[in-house]
Amino acid sequence: MELSADVVVIGSGAGGAPVAAALAEAGRSVVVLEAGPRLETKDFTGDEEEMTARLWKIGAAGRVLTLYAGACVGGSTVINDALCFRPPGRLLEVWQDYYALPGLGAEGMEPYVNRVWEDIHAEPTGPDHTSRNAARLALGAKRLGWMASATPRSVRNCVNLGLCNFGCPSGASIVTRSPGSPVVKSSWTASTPVTPPASIRMRSARVRASTTAPARSARGT
Ligand SMILES: Cc1cc2nc3c(=O)[nH]c(=O)nc-3n(C[C@H](O)[C@H](O)[C@H](O)COP(=O)(O)OP(=O)(O)OC[C@H]3O[C@@H](n4cnc5c(N)ncnc54)[C@H](O)[C@@H]3O)c2cc1C
Repeated sequence: MELSADVVVIGSGAGGAPVAAALAEAGRSVVVLEAGPRLETKDFTGDEEEMTARLWKIGAAGRVLTLYAGACVGGSTVINDALCFRPPGRLLEVWQDYYALPGLGAEGMEPYVNRVWEDIHAEPTGPDHTSRNAARLALGAKRLGWMASATPRSVRNCVNLGLCNFGCPSGASIVTRSPGSPVVKSSWTASTPVTPPASIRMRSARVRASTTAPARSARGT
């Protein structure tokens, strides 16, 4: 198979999918390459062993700590907890100064963060969706005079199955591959999940990805 596009985005997770959507919205043709399989909500059985084998991979393994990640269409957004944290303003200010990115401090980033917030449908987490443990923690915090609140989540009609990490069987979790997700509406439906290409070539400023291994050249494409 050979695909041709203005831009090839590698990986369909939280990073790749929004970039692909934004580029497609701006009129570019985009192909998203995803190494993992495409699973639909109906495929999520809630069986931990089966789902871990189909959706997870070891992202990074050290001697002490192993980090896991999603390896499927949607990337880790398919297996994450849907908890939404706004980037702390103080940190954005530090990054702006450190990386010399004028205009991308707390104030400059606010409209973008707001847009993402809307796109991923981050909504407050009500008492119906917090555990008794969480309620006890909130009570303890209140007694100590500390501020405490439930973290917003990127879900629609969550029914508290507690299976976020194995692909949500109710389809409540908003993942980057959801057909209704604004993050992907313009790009994902048009793109084809394919296995990682054997080669990616730039030709006349257009990118071609091919699943056929190219003949070896002196330049070693
Ligand atoms: C269990 C778990 C729970 C989490 N809970 C939360 C949470 O509640 N809130 C929160 O904000 N964050 C959470 N995270 C973290 C969050 O999901 C990740 O930070 C985010 O998804 C990272 O985005 P990414 O695009 O970098 O990678 P990913 O979303 O992991 O996507 C990368 C994709 O690229 C594909 N890929 C990699 N290499 C190639 C290649 N060479 N060719 C083709 N495809 C490739 C992978 O298969 C994968 O699908 C959680 C993560 C995990 C694992």
